[in-house]
Amino acid sequence: MVTEGFIPISKPLIGDEEIEGVVNVLKSGMVAQGEVVGKFEKEFSNYIGADFAVAVCNGTVALDVALKALGIGEGDEVITTPFTFIATSNAILFQGGRPVFADIEDRTYNLNPESVLEKVSPKTKAIVGVHLFGHPFDVNAILDICEDHNLILIEDCAQAHGAEFKGKKVGRFGTGCFSFYATKNITTGEGGMITTSDNDIAEKCRLIRSHGEASKYRHLILGYNFRMTNIQAAIGLAQLEKLDKLNEIRRRNAEFLNRNIRVEGLTKPVEIRGSKHVYHQYVLRVEDDFPIKRDEFVGFLQSKGIGCAIHYPLPIYKQPLYVKLGYGDVKCPVSEEVSSRVVSLPVHPGVNEDQLRYIAETVNSVS
Ligand SMILES: *Cc1c(COP(=O)(O)O)cnc(C)c1O
Repeated sequence: MVTEGFIPISKPLIGDEEIEGVVNVLKSGMVAQGEVVGKFEKEFSNYIGADFAVAVCNGTVALDVALKALGIGEGDEVITTPFTFIATSNAILFQGGRPVFADIEDRTYNLNPESVLEKVSPKTKAIVGVHLFGHPFDVNAILDICEDHNLILIEDCAQAHGAEFKGKKVGRFGTGCFSFYATKNITTGEGGMITTSDNDIAEKCRLIRSHGEASKYRHLILGYNFRMTNIQAAIGLAQLEKLDKLNEIRRRNAEFLNRNIRVEGLTKPVEIRGSKHVYHQYVLRVEDDFPIKRDEFVGFLQSKGIGCAIHYPLPIYKQPLYVKLGYGDVKCPVSEEVSSRVVSLPVHPGVNEDQLRYIAETVNSVS
């Protein structure tokens, strides 16, 4: 079976609603941060179930601003995962903190609470957990560690808009940080959001976002310009309306691939009981009994017009920047093993059933 053209690993779904929202903002003349951003914040916080949401210009900045507002600074250790996009730990570095890498679980690829516990020291101030690929980390176990050791929880929700842990949306357990980059479950082109139910933290985030300005030209603290525009917020409002539907399609697509990929030697993604996975990525792990190695498999799929990707090829501590910073001796064996074996297949809502069937057949044809 053949399908036309290349199937991309991600594709934003922009409809008439987004276009109409943007046109309305442009016609209004109020293009910078204003009422539309306020409306997006309100609707986003309602959706997540947090009291406040603060919109910023991207997800990296969301993490950066949240950490700063929470008081993470020079000399503070922050435990996080090495198996994520580099923004997660770079935000800790930007605040002068020291990322301490704990290993991951080999089923969800999220932080392993036992490994986290081993890394707690008197200098530990916070944990940044990532709900990787759209699957929540073990929120209860991580919250227990936070409680026992008086640590702050930050949730990197950049890949998990709408994911749930025990019936509650991620981003309401700690301070939530979201991204609306073009590849995420919903997009504003570039954009980010911080969610919290702590009024003081929300207010601090707002100050940091905009030059520490409490009222016109009255500056309380050192801040920057990290604002979102009304143009982006208009896109975000339209996307948020569609989020549940888009996530349902991702889940259906993942289920289709789970059902129809039958070849031996590939470990499929799991959804842990009590968690709702929103499949930002559909990630297979290539085991030793698969006929070909991971990198050869990636090349094969690409040659067949299937846009696959490796998320992520290296644990962060092996990145040149981190080796230079003295992380050369860090060892997280599961993260290393997993990063050498994973491959992500297209699962986004723009993939149709013919394409899904083609992907599964192509994968099954490997021998
Ligand atoms: C995308 C992403 C970020 C950064 O968001 P940007 O909007 O690209 O700055 C942070 N953490 C994770 C896990 C991400 O996937």
